Amino acid sequence: MSRPLIARIDTAALAHNLSVARAAAPNSKVLAVVKADAYGHGLLRAARALRAADGFAVLRLEEAMQLRSEGYSHPIVLLEGFFDPEELPEIARLRLRPVLHRTDQADIIARSRLSHRVDVLIKLNTGMNRLGINPKRLPETLAALRAAPHIGGITLMTHFASADEDDASVERQLANFQVATGHLGLPCSLANSAALLRHPPTHADWVRPGIMLYGASPFVEQTGEDIGLLPVMTLESKLISVQFVRKGEGVGYGARFVAERDMKIGIVACGYADGYPRHAGTGTPILVGGQLTRTLGRVSMDMLNVDLTAVPTAHVGSDVTLWGVGLPVEHVATACGTISYELLTALAPRVPVEESEG
Ligand SMILES: *Cc1c(COP(=O)(O)O)cnc(C)c1O
Repeated sequence: MSRPLIARIDTAALAHNLSVARAAAPNSKVLAVVKADAYGHGLLRAARALRAADGFAVLRLEEAMQLRSEGYSHPIVLLEGFFDPEELPEIARLRLRPVLHRTDQADIIARSRLSHRVDVLIKLNTGMNRLGINPKRLPETLAALRAAPHIGGITLMTHFASADEDDASVERQLANFQVATGHLGLPCSLANSAALLRHPPTHADWVRPGIMLYGASPFVEQTGEDIGLLPVMTLESKLISVQFVRKGEGVGYGARFVAERDMKIGIVACGYADGYPRHAGTGTPILVGGQLTRTLGRVSMDMLNVDLTAVPTAHVGSDVTLWGVGLPVEHVATACGTISYELLTALAPRVPVEESEG
């Protein structure tokens, strides 16, 4: 038998979650965000399951090229635009849509000689202060682009800093956006998953869901299941050893857990080299034989330890769920002081993936 750790990807759940996004924003087109290898789920696998989306959003030219070479003719947005002007001929040839988030990028693309018309997005900084041009410079940026015959459609966009927790900040950013763009009559895109689910006034022409497509909630107080989503990735393994530990003995590296009484513990084939967070401390939720229990001590490179007190029948070979169906990834993330996004995108390439449909 090979090492039992496996990531199961339920492609029917992806399609279901897309339909939840559509139902929540019925008048908008959906740009499925598949950056970071589709949040760790596999770019091409996710794209196939999400082909009913109206477009895809990626980060790197290479990802867009992969989608085009697989035959996807959808609009494809490059979320950070081009990193080097040398990418522009390929962007034009493949009819990709770069986001222009600095004025110099707009100038460069306007002055380039390109073989095909390029549709672009202009990203405005409405308060997140990460990427985006100052709205005051929008008129000159638009003028430069409109003067270039090879620039096709222009979409305006922005990104929310706190759509998952702070309604007032969404309203401020939305107001800034509307002041700068309301009179222009151009298509607009604002909403990530959190805004899509909670702030209908942000829906506009294109919504940009990411995390919700993968079945996780963008909100701390709700899981994906609470809002009608289905988990897509289930990370499963098995116990590869069972130990009996005496009261007062330590478990694992650094003896970070010391047994409070005589107890049975299990060793799971999954460690930080698989993407499980090393900073998961004692008490992180985990399922053994379908039963909720907790991790103990430090996570090792290839293994972690679990408490079998609540699972007396557990044995070598018992099934373990690290997250997914039966154990929301959000609960694991919260216990580790992080977010589901980080856990999902960290899945290591060495973990075999098995695809299922439902
Ligand atoms: C990643 C990303 C999204 C998707 O965000 P989620 O919170 O995963 O829904 C949307 N828009 C932009 C610009 C992004 O970079």
